Amino acid sequence: MDIAANAATVWIYVAAGAVAIVVIAAIVVFLTPLWDVVKRRIFGTEPEADVISLEGMLEEGGRPLSALVTVRKTIVDMAAEERVNTRKLLDYVIAQAWNLGASDVHFTPTADGMTLQLRIDGLLYDLAMFSREVMASALIRLKILSRLNPYKRDVPQDGRINVDVSQSLDVRISTLPTIHGEKAVLRFLSKAGRFLTLQDLGIDDWTLERYHGLITRPQGMVLVTGPTGSGKTTTLYSSLDAVKNRTASHLNIVTIEDPVEHELPFLNQTQVNEEVGLTFAKGLRSVLRQDPNVIMVGEIRDKETVEIAVHAGLTGHLIFSSVHAESSPGVFARLLNMGIEPYILASAVSCVLGQRLMRKLCPACREEVPPSNHEIEQLGKLGVTLDPDEGPFFRSSGCARCFDLGVHGRTGIFELLVVDDVVQEELVKEVRTKEMYRAAVERGMRPLIDDGFDRARQGVVSLEELLNVISSS
Ligand SMILES: [Zn+2]
Repeated sequence: MDIAANAATVWIYVAAGAVAIVVIAAIVVFLTPLWDVVKRRIFGTEPEADVISLEGMLEEGGRPLSALVTVRKTIVDMAAEERVNTRKLLDYVIAQAWNLGASDVHFTPTADGMTLQLRIDGLLYDLAMFSREVMASALIRLKILSRLNPYKRDVPQDGRINVDVSQSLDVRISTLPTIHGEKAVLRFLSKAGRFLTLQDLGIDDWTLERYHGLITRPQGMVLVTGPTGSGKTTTLYSSLDAVKNRTASHLNIVTIEDPVEHELPFLNQTQVNEEVGLTFAKGLRSVLRQDPNVIMVGEIRDKETVEIAVHAGLTGHLIFSSVHAESSPGVFARLLNMGIEPYILASAVSCVLGQRLMRKLCPACREEVPPSNHEIEQLGKLGVTLDPDEGPFFRSSGCARCFDLGVHGRTGIFELLVVDDVVQEELVKEVRTKEMYRAAVERGMRPLIDDGFDRARQGVVSLEELLNVISSS
């Protein structure tokens, strides 16, 4: 009797316990979203971000799944479903953007909805149009993924998204209020395997050898120039990599960047942060107190920065930087305009590397074409004389391998202005940029147009691309 009663009591306790566990679990599940809201109200924190996993969406080795047309159709179909699965849609967009080799994904609000665009090899391609509802839920998901405040729509925000592919992938997100609503841009930054050595950039052997000689000196300034998007930062990173590999001694290599575009293990990288007063100039001053050998300043755009950089370049440091100018000698005019004395510039700068990026023809669908009269005329204006029967030259109309784009990847073209005795004299005399350019070419500088024309003759790029790149800058 007692035993039976005890057994019954035990069973009652077990049952009560089980019910209690179920009730508590239900309350926890029910309250978790509420807890996020409460936490946000009380502590101002955001819901935990999760990670996008693209593993199942990529073929082995990251090979493309399908051509641009198919990607477009799939995205349009997904966005047109009655209940749009935003998570699935965004995962697909990001996976395909990565697959297609895009550098940026733009979510651009328009008067009626949103345009989704990809930047591939420097050009923007429209992928799809979305409704306002899809746009709104996509933005919320992107902001939660990147730990941004999803409820703030009237201020710009910057963040990161963790994307899990077979390699480390750093995706930055920035949002900006526009007249039609918030615009978001995703940027793929740290792409393992996409880091390029100087040889990979497309610098011809002769120029490369001279450049190598200049960048492995213990001091001086090495400046890279070209318009926005001409690959200056990539060249700077590749140059630092070359310095590290060519110099036997252990060097303290420090960078000040805005933004840090690639995280590289052999560098000490500092991000400019204007909000807290960490400018290029201030960062550079602090770096100089830390016993550096080599310093990379992302960009020189003000007098203070150039003054400190020049001084550092004259006192035992090797300085790398970029300056926005139209031609290699144009860099000097830009720096003189900032107020630097010509004789100081003449002794500090070792060389200026001018560059542009050109989109390479897809080798799979490339076909021979004679140069058009227009192209012959335009080339003539740039100093390249061409016979109508010279060639062959090439163009591509697109195939499945190049996602119907006709182009695949990019190559750089370069001109190297070495600051020798003659350039030093010209600088001190403040010779005009055009004359300095002519004199440099006479003494052996291969101009950008010649480097690019060689690439067209080799069938790497089209004449059309060469003329676009040279005349648009
Ligand atoms: Zn092709």
